[in-house]
Amino acid sequence: MKEPDEKKIAALVKKLLVELGEDPERDGLKRTPLRVAKSLAFLTRGYRQNLKAVVNNAKFASGTNHMVILKDIELYSLCEHHMLPFYGRCAIGYISKGKVLGVSKLARIVDMFARRLQIQERLTEEIADAVMEESGAEGVGVVIRAKHLCMMMRGVEKQNSEMTTSAVLGSFRSDEKVRSEFLSLIR
Ligand code: ZN
Repeated sequence: MKEPDEKKIAALVKKLLVELGEDPERDGLKRTPLRVAKSLAFLTRGYRQNLKAVVNNAKFASGTNHMVILKDIELYSLCEHHMLPFYGRCAIGYISKGKVLGVSKLARIVDMFARRLQIQERLTEEIADAVMEESGAEGVGVVIRAKHLCMMMRGVEKQNSEMTTSAVLGSFRSDEKVRSEFLSLIR
C-alpha cells in the first residue's frame, strides 16, 4: 500500500477545522493540518507493513516445547468507530514447536496491527493468528486490556472501565490446563 498523501490529508483537516467553527489561519492552528496529517500517517503505518517483513525471519531453534510469555506490551491504537485512541497492554503466550520468535518481533507484530483503525476484538485475533502463523506454535494465547477514549471522553463517559479481550488457538483452546497456566502466568 502506498504512503498517504500528506498534503491531501492536510487540506481535508483544514476544511474540518473550518466546519468545526475554527479559524485555520490563526497562529496556533497554521501548521496543525500538516501535523495532523503526519500524525495520522504514523498512527496508521501498520497498513503499509507486512508480517514477513516485520518478523524478518528472526526465528531461533529451541529444543524443548515450553510456554513462552511476553506480557505488558504497551499498545496504542485507534478505534475504527470514532478514530479515537484506545490504549493498554497486551500479553502473548505460545508453546513453541522447535522454534521461537525473537522477543522484539512479538512487540512489532502487536504494533503492526495496532497502528491501523481497529476494534479491540479483531486486534486480539489478528495478533494471535500472526504469532501462530510465524512461529508454527502448537498453541497461542493473546490477552489485551485496554481503555477506550471514545468511552471515556464521550458517550457513556466511563473513565475507569477497561475492556479485556482474549484469543486462544491450538492447545490454548483445546487444553484447559494449558489455558489456565497461561492465564495464571500473565496475571
Ligand atoms: Zn470508538
